[in-house]
Amino acid sequence: MPATVGILSFQGDFAKHQQVLEKLRCQVRLIKSVEALNRVDCLIIPGGESSVIARFLKIEKMAQPIKEFAQHKPIWGTCAGMILLGRSIIDDNKAQPLGLIDIITARNAYGRQYESFVGTGEFGACGEKEEMEMVFIRAPKVIKIGKDVEILGRWQDEITIVRQDKVVATAFHPELSASTRFQEFFLSLLH
Ligand code: GLN
Repeated sequence: MPATVGILSFQGDFAKHQQVLEKLRCQVRLIKSVEALNRVDCLIIPGGESSVIARFLKIEKMAQPIKEFAQHKPIWGTCAGMILLGRSIIDDNKAQPLGLIDIITARNAYGRQYESFVGTGEFGACGEKEEMEMVFIRAPKVIKIGKDVEILGRWQDEITIVRQDKVVATAFHPELSASTRFQEFFLSLLH
């Protein structure tokens, strides 16, 4: 049976994630409630504006249910999603992160919207390293990581992909690149 992937869809880049996953033959559900969350096999928190998404999570009382979801099901956060999965945000109290990956992030640390760029980074999930296109849009930097966090990718010296158990986060936007390599890796966490 194909996996049912939930994408948090209060705000941000959820439609592009949906397109790519449907191409990979996943069932996609757009998630805006705890009831909908409980019907999917894994969850994506898209890029967008972390403070706005955090506000919706609070209104819909979804923070605790997402923390419970993460105990046994994979979650992937891109960009704003990475910020929200982390432990804390440096110099910023606009969003209360979920604390599902022991990282401290700095918002907008690569510059402003017009300084968005595409770089070639490195991804290495199973020992071997491969090149990966990385699209950065007002992306966060990972400033500090805890001992349980695995670094799965970098662009130059910056940490751009992290994992803690079944929770992964990318500072960039894999859904905007042609390669579906990262999506395939994420879906492999279902098994
Ligand atoms: N700068 C945004 C934030 O801080 C993230 C940008 C993005 O998700 N592309 O939430």
